[in-house]
Amino acid sequence: MYLCYLDESGTADLPGNTSHYILAGLSVPIWMWRTCDSDISRIKKKYALEGRELHTAWMMRKYLEQSKITDFDSLTFFERGQAVEQWRRAELLRLQKTGASKLYKVTKKLFKHTAAYVHLTHVQRREFVREVAACVGGWGFARLFAECVDKIHFTPTDAARTPDEEGLEQVVSRFEHYLRAMSSPGQQQAHGLLIHDNNETVSKKHTSLMLKFHQQGTLWTDVKHIMETPLFVNSELTAMVQVADLCSYALRRYCENQETELFDLVYQRADHRSDGKVVGVRHFTPQGCQCKICASRNR
Ligand SMILES: [Zn+2]
Repeated sequence: MYLCYLDESGTADLPGNTSHYILAGLSVPIWMWRTCDSDISRIKKKYALEGRELHTAWMMRKYLEQSKITDFDSLTFFERGQAVEQWRRAELLRLQKTGASKLYKVTKKLFKHTAAYVHLTHVQRREFVREVAACVGGWGFARLFAECVDKIHFTPTDAARTPDEEGLEQVVSRFEHYLRAMSSPGQQQAHGLLIHDNNETVSKKHTSLMLKFHQQGTLWTDVKHIMETPLFVNSELTAMVQVADLCSYALRRYCENQETELFDLVYQRADHRSDGKVVGVRHFTPQGCQCKICASRNR
């Protein structure tokens, strides 16, 4: 049995505020789940992040106030947390008084999503994310599946009306192919389960799409090895969905900004054939793209 943790990066809206939409799935055999979970817990503990969500995009940001607090780097984790909290409280009061309600809301949201990480400097947060990515890169038993849609060139079709429908159909097809390849003849079949971050709009759509794939197959394959509709879990509590979030973030930042640091680490896990040709990850973009994903697919 294989668990495939799914998460997305970028918006599926056209045009939306990102050029790419990514749906990534990280598959691990169920008997390795405990190893994965304890690897991530160990790294979190090192950075005093136990029980906190690894949300890559929020962690990778710079927090302006940290540069305004005197000798921030030399403070203890506890002192940093206190200093930032104090600064943020004052800032929210100030914004409330100026009547800039939109800025107040945006700032409040930023503070809420980053509160768990303010005891770490920007360098430490990057190191933490890098360490998790390196750990995933070393999981020889894991496989990465993803569809990276360049939305500028996406044309809706009857089969896939939106980038996220396209993404799910592709990831499901590749995971199914992988499971088929893992089911050696005469032996027990390999089965798979999709586990997705809970999100109301996505959950309804992906559940009905998955039901359709079970009945009619995808455009590329029958679905015989993936069981059930995706299970939706709370990403705040499920470390492996957070790891899938890191993978989709790394893919999007590579496709959009050619950032290679995290990408090179997690891309080692992209499902590939024995000749090295990558079959698990695709960059949906016009022909002639010179990126590493397109190059490794055309090998
Ligand atoms: Zn490409």
